[in-house]
Amino acid sequence: MNKTQRTFLFDLLQTPSPTGFEAPGQRKWAAFTRKHADRVESDAYGTAWATLDGKSKQAPTIMIEAHADEIGYMVKQVTSEGFLRLDRIGGSDAATARGRRLDIFGDNGTVRGIIGNTAIHMRNDPGAQEKAPKPEQLYVDIGATSAKQVEEAGIRVGHAAVYADGPEEFGKNKLSGRALDNRIGGFIIARVIAELTSKNQPRPPATCVAVNAVQEEIGGYGAKMVAYRLMPDLCLVLDVTHATDTPGIDHARHGEVTLGGGPTLTHGTGNHIAVVKRLQEVAKKAGIPIQHEASSRATGTDTDSIYHMNEGIPSALISLPMRYMHSVVETVDLEDVEKVISLMTAFIRSVKVSDRFSVKI
Ligand SMILES: [Zn+2]
Repeated sequence: MNKTQRTFLFDLLQTPSPTGFEAPGQRKWAAFTRKHADRVESDAYGTAWATLDGKSKQAPTIMIEAHADEIGYMVKQVTSEGFLRLDRIGGSDAATARGRRLDIFGDNGTVRGIIGNTAIHMRNDPGAQEKAPKPEQLYVDIGATSAKQVEEAGIRVGHAAVYADGPEEFGKNKLSGRALDNRIGGFIIARVIAELTSKNQPRPPATCVAVNAVQEEIGGYGAKMVAYRLMPDLCLVLDVTHATDTPGIDHARHGEVTLGGGPTLTHGTGNHIAVVKRLQEVAKKAGIPIQHEASSRATGTDTDSIYHMNEGIPSALISLPMRYMHSVVETVDLEDVEKVISLMTAFIRSVKVSDRFSVKI
């Protein structure tokens, strides 16, 4: 990763993009992709896409998709004492919420809040087993002492918030922070567009549309809207997946995925046999290690929203292994990131004018 790419990555991760409020992050993504793509467009709800025209109009159009939103919180209630009650945006984990700093996006700009944490000395009945709090038990202290002071700070019910934690590199090629799910996906697909246009490389025959879709964390709605609009011939979806190589994870239930072991391919459901096969061939040729995952019902990603659109869009999910998903220390391996970029780029270059991905009957 060079300096420009690293600056873009950190900027993207630091820009808040909670579901339903993705515009600031989308602007950063569009500014980077505009330098490499033929055009960048967006729809009514803020999904953005960057198109790189292929050499041939007869070649299939490939959509590469990653969701742009991150999980977060919303102000649900303002108490008369000036505390805020929270609703979760997506699957925010109440078990790790107490004692954290929040950025709340109010009418007068960003307001700092602290999720209250009653001291351990006062929290437990002697001998009682402590349970994780329910989301409605969390409360936020913004330093106000009345509902009026909250109002004066520009905060009302319905304002969004994310944890204040930023990204940080540590160890050997590791990156941790909030929002890596799936802001790092937006970074990767933007990088793929940049790779495809890099100097002394010919344009691929196929047109490639990189899509940064809104509202995945609550049901894949941005992906639905944009797949219906663009109706590509095939689609590669990129999201994060659970690395299961930390203590206490049941491999019989959750499978085996290693951080640093390379991208995963998922088999079954929306993952089209011919597209997955091509990805495997391309990975083998390029020497990219691949891990495998099983999907017997749904992938839990935007793939589920895209593949059955219209008459069917042959799709495949590529996943980046991640530890500690939906926490402020979501952790990925930056070598895995580069391998995903290489795999997606090589796949797009492999698609020929005559390629049609369908199940032969
Ligand atoms: Zn995700």
